Amino acid sequence: MEKQRVTVAYGDGIGPEIMKATLSILEAAEVPLEYDVIEIGEKIYLSGVKSGISSEAWDTLRHNAAFLKAPITTPQGGGYKSLNVTIRKSLGLFANVRPVVALTPYVKSNHPKMDLVIVRENEEDLYAGIEHQQTPEVVQTLKLVSRPGCEKIVRYAFEYARVNGRKKVTCMTKDNIMKHSDGLFRQVFNEVKEEYPDIEANHWIIDIGSAVVANRPETLDVVVTLNLYGDIISDIAAEVGGSVGLGGSANAGATVSMFEAIHGSAPDIAGKGIANPSGLLNGAIMMLDHLGLQDKARMIKNAFFKTLEDGYHTGDIYREEISKERVNTQGFAAKVIENLGQEPSQLPAALAAKGGKINIKITKNNRASKKLVGVDVFIDWDKANRDPEVIGDGLRAIQGEKMYLKMITNRGVKVYPDGLPETFKTDHWRCRFTAQNGNDLGNADVIELLSNIEGADFDFIKTEQLYEFDGKRGYSLAQGE
Ligand code: NAD
Repeated sequence: MEKQRVTVAYGDGIGPEIMKATLSILEAAEVPLEYDVIEIGEKIYLSGVKSGISSEAWDTLRHNAAFLKAPITTPQGGGYKSLNVTIRKSLGLFANVRPVVALTPYVKSNHPKMDLVIVRENEEDLYAGIEHQQTPEVVQTLKLVSRPGCEKIVRYAFEYARVNGRKKVTCMTKDNIMKHSDGLFRQVFNEVKEEYPDIEANHWIIDIGSAVVANRPETLDVVVTLNLYGDIISDIAAEVGGSVGLGGSANAGATVSMFEAIHGSAPDIAGKGIANPSGLLNGAIMMLDHLGLQDKARMIKNAFFKTLEDGYHTGDIYREEISKERVNTQGFAAKVIENLGQEPSQLPAALAAKGGKINIKITKNNRASKKLVGVDVFIDWDKANRDPEVIGDGLRAIQGEKMYLKMITNRGVKVYPDGLPETFKTDHWRCRFTAQNGNDLGNADVIELLSNIEGADFDFIKTEQLYEFDGKRGYSLAQGE
């Protein structure tokens, strides 16, 4: 078999120790890989490269399909950028995949049957980092969700389930509140699931879903969700599973994917040779699956489970009542190597190898027809004791012929016309203008309206056009609209 080349970074702190141990296991398992080693992390940061990665390293990274990365240390202060975020965004690593399996009794967990995988969208949502202060009192963060973004991650989750012999994919959103952004994610989930009749599919609202992760994780199999929710529930899951120190994760992209341990560079124990290499080893096992080397992945995973069962434990999981011997990093690797070809008897043996790499195709949709039906004008206003009647009547007086002021909301709650005096009001007013008498609208009408607003001495700070797409409303209604 022709050897595939993968990129390897030894990282900082315990990184070099656990990488050496992991690669020694891969070598003993005769995994058909060759390694291109790159330097990233603390040394590069401190040499003045704020991203922590040199330009030569980028070439290697972009060239190989997989990147096995040991943890790195991010220096404190000094405006250093997170290397993970840089790599993830630059290389389009759209799926963060974190399996969590309880390894009781060898690792303590209250949920011994837990065995789930969280597939988190990695590029969109609130992490676009687009934030603005709009008035002295109000700031906003934009939550951007795209149809291709949703389709990529949802398809990835179903394909992952199929390739890994998993039976169910659970989607988690908050589409009862965010009907458009989370609604799109769920809509795409509902469309894509039809193509996978062999896999069960269901949906939880994220708040209840998080409680299920914490309380009944054994009922979940593959979970797919948006970026922020995924960030939170993958930490809950790792904690509940008890295996933060042993977990691996993947950041999968269309051409390049990155694999690593969940934990950091553990500077407190670096250089002592006692770190547990299991997290990185589990990352490497995911890499082998990803590269289509399922048989090797399965063989190493079974040897790893057998070593845990035999009681050879590193200091972080060593317990007198369950362990046989406290081993160091290399000692643990040596035991895994000895066990290659054997199966565990207590922990579930890894599933028989299933086929293939995960390839994601995106449906090319025809562009929907778009019709402008109004505009939300956001105004910074702090006059007349913030009486909505004053701003509302003032705007109606200058609204012009083509549009009329339908209503005003303050943080989403309708305050004009007919608001309640009890509603709390900030200095941030969303004023919704819609077409009068079925008038056709264009951006020129928006500009005319804005110039009227400016002329009446109102301080507009932002506009959002209201569109229909293929005749369907593309904006939310206000509370009370
Ligand atoms: P950490 O995960 O490095 O360490 C937390 C605790 O867990 C420490 O007591 C450590 O000794 C222990 N620990 C971690 N991994 C272990 C292992 N394999 N075996 C035995 N014990 C282990 O978290 P931290 O201390 O918050 O972060 C240290 C550094 O790592 C920071 O610079 C941080 O930015 C970085 N970090 C990097 C990554 C990454 O590269 N993906 C992830 C998290 C943190």
